[in-house]
Amino acid sequence: MSIRELDEAYVAGTYKRFPVEIVSGHGSIAVDVNGKEYIDMGSGIGVTSFGYADGEWIAAVTEQLGRVQHTSNLYYTEPCAQLAKRLCERTGMSRVFFGNSGAEANECAIKVARKYAAEHHGGDCYTIVTLKNSFHGRTLTTLAATGQDNFHKLFQPLTPGFCHITAGDIYELEAVAAKTQIAGIMIECVQGEGGVLPLDPEFVRAVAEFAKKRDIILIVDEVQTGNGRTGKLYSYMHYGIEPDVVTTAKGLGGGLPIGACIIGEKVKDVLGYGDHGSTFGGNPAACAGAISIFDRIDDGLLADVEAKSKYIFDEMTGAAGVESVAGLGLMIGIKTVKPAGEIVSKCIERGVLCLTAKDKVRLLPALNIPFDTVKKAVAIIKSACAE
Ligand SMILES: *Cc1c(COP(=O)(O)O)cnc(C)c1O
Repeated sequence: MSIRELDEAYVAGTYKRFPVEIVSGHGSIAVDVNGKEYIDMGSGIGVTSFGYADGEWIAAVTEQLGRVQHTSNLYYTEPCAQLAKRLCERTGMSRVFFGNSGAEANECAIKVARKYAAEHHGGDCYTIVTLKNSFHGRTLTTLAATGQDNFHKLFQPLTPGFCHITAGDIYELEAVAAKTQIAGIMIECVQGEGGVLPLDPEFVRAVAEFAKKRDIILIVDEVQTGNGRTGKLYSYMHYGIEPDVVTTAKGLGGGLPIGACIIGEKVKDVLGYGDHGSTFGGNPAACAGAISIFDRIDDGLLADVEAKSKYIFDEMTGAAGVESVAGLGLMIGIKTVKPAGEIVSKCIERGVLCLTAKDKVRLLPALNIPFDTVKKAVAIIKSACAE
């Protein structure tokens, strides 16, 4: 049997895969089983921040693998503590809980908000407000947080205590608050899966102010937008707000599973012994890799992200077959005249891997993708849109 046949026979059919089998890669180039090369403009959905086979990351991970690949959270390990220190220092926050995915980071954030609210405002204060069209994960609780009905239908009942308001409409938030005690508000500053839609800065600031005034825990989901993706270390830094909790995952690990719930001063002691846990959370190899990624997200890299972003925006805006371009940094959604899926298939034939988000072609290349590689990819994407 071919790998494709094996996969279709034995792997749960939850993913509709493209007919490409990736066997290796270097930098922003992926190589398939036939030796065909692709420029990877998706980086494993914003995960491989420094591309495939990145030397520094491999060295950090393998060095750690040779010492301790895992121990339980009953003992101290250096990479976990060092990564937490870095995350706190560069966000001004206070503590980190490590898990293995974005959904797990968000679960932790929701627990923090619920426990804080119960302790300060009583047991009826538990509602978490999120936005319509948001995406927060696939567990039953993060699905409840996700403001898209099509994800909900088949899995009722979901975790209760979630409520979704329209992005941009602060009055809806006030209307919810008039009827319900709100424990937390969770937002993505740029909705990723929802179609690469940056939130209106005025709305974000109004939400932050509202939360602060009423002692509501503000959670920013930076699972996709975090770790340099939008041209700042975290996307909330574009908006001049100070969240109580920041969650991240995807690009933090550079390719190994990791999730982090970064907890601010106000809520830093909410979780105590036994309140939460994760067997693999803070895994030394994953954390060692993440440190090698995180330390390279400096001002120079972020300026490069902005420059490549500007190039892509300038080239794609108004191009033939393109209706609009939206996003922030190297998180870009292109609304095309032809269906996005058709454009992506055409790009694959021509050697470029792109993603979709709703009805858009979505680009999330590695942060260090070389400029001339971006140029080649953009030319191919433009040709696919123009036909
Ligand atoms: C991908 C994503 C998640 C879920 O992350 P997993 O690692 O798949 O659990 C949550 N929130 C946002 C904004 C995401 O983009």
